[in-house]
Amino acid sequence: MKPAPFDYVVPGTLDEAVGYLADEDIESHVLAGGQSLVPAMNMRMARPELLVDLGKLDELDFIREDNGSLVVGAMTTKRSMEFSPIVASSQPLVHAATLMIAHPQIRNRGTVGGSVAHADPAAEYPAVAMLLDAEIKAQGPGGERTISSSDFFITYFTTALEEGEILTEVRFPPATPNTGWSFKEFSRRHGDFALAGVGVTLNLDASGHCENTRVVAFALGATPIRARALEAAINGETPSEALFAAASKTVAEGLEDPTSDVHASVEYRRELASVLGARALGEAVERARASQ
Ligand SMILES: Cc1cc2nc3c(=O)[nH]c(=O)nc-3n(C[C@H](O)[C@H](O)[C@H](O)COP(=O)(O)OP(=O)(O)OC[C@H]3O[C@@H](n4cnc5c(N)ncnc54)[C@H](O)[C@@H]3O)c2cc1C
Repeated sequence: MKPAPFDYVVPGTLDEAVGYLADEDIESHVLAGGQSLVPAMNMRMARPELLVDLGKLDELDFIREDNGSLVVGAMTTKRSMEFSPIVASSQPLVHAATLMIAHPQIRNRGTVGGSVAHADPAAEYPAVAMLLDAEIKAQGPGGERTISSSDFFITYFTTALEEGEILTEVRFPPATPNTGWSFKEFSRRHGDFALAGVGVTLNLDASGHCENTRVVAFALGATPIRARALEAAINGETPSEALFAAASKTVAEGLEDPTSDVHASVEYRRELASVLGARALGEAVERARASQ
């Protein structure tokens, strides 16, 4: 398959890129790593008239720590995330999730901003952003704004980014001390998109009870989903396998719209969600204990 004809520009600055996107009469898309957009163009599911390649915007390619937050530029590749000592030390959950994304070839080209902006519900970074309460920065014709990850993901492949806006950075706030975490997914083959996944962060109080529990399920609906009923069932409780197994059933029950497709039925995905939920909670507690 070949894409429909399109024009192509390579801006040298972010302002120039925003300028190209400002013309409302032209259907323009930004090109980051091209790992999702180019196949979509080849299948003519996307037919941009103008492709604005962000590949020369070095200003969007960075990983840094800022007051304990991990701040990542949109054009940072997943491969850079994989090998960054800053990512590994400040947010090991982000590092672990990165290793679950596709294969090295895809991670070489695919970017953090592309993954978050693309908002595939089975993708790891949108789930990680929601789990860690990341802030997403965007620049557009109206200037710069910050969007919380809980407001960012609207539905399948749809975000709060407005016409002409470019996602510029993702900011992961510092983890509270002694946070336990886990990020688990199931896919048929390593590197495939997840059939279901669950991420957890939590702390243990002085009496060993769970607190600050956050759980996000992904590949199970239109966006990553906060499992609030599960969080409420865990907070204040003494961790145990029985508690986690019982409480994790609420993840499956709370799913309004799990996807049924050739890869897995709704029932199978629900079962995966509760099994992964229980395992992720157990692992997060182990890590929280080990860090005390
Ligand atoms: C074989 C294969 C397996 C894969 N497996 C996985 C997987 O397991 N997990 C996973 O998460 N992903 C997977 N992917 C997707 C891959 O991670 C992509 O890299 C990612 O989804 C998109 O990133 P990109 O930089 O390639 O963006 P592109 O493909 O260039 O862009 C994707 C979309 O986002 C928009 N966009 C990109 N950057 C920005 C920006 N800065 N601001 C605004 N809009 C922007 C584009 O206009 C486009 O609509 C896989 C891809 C392939 C080909």
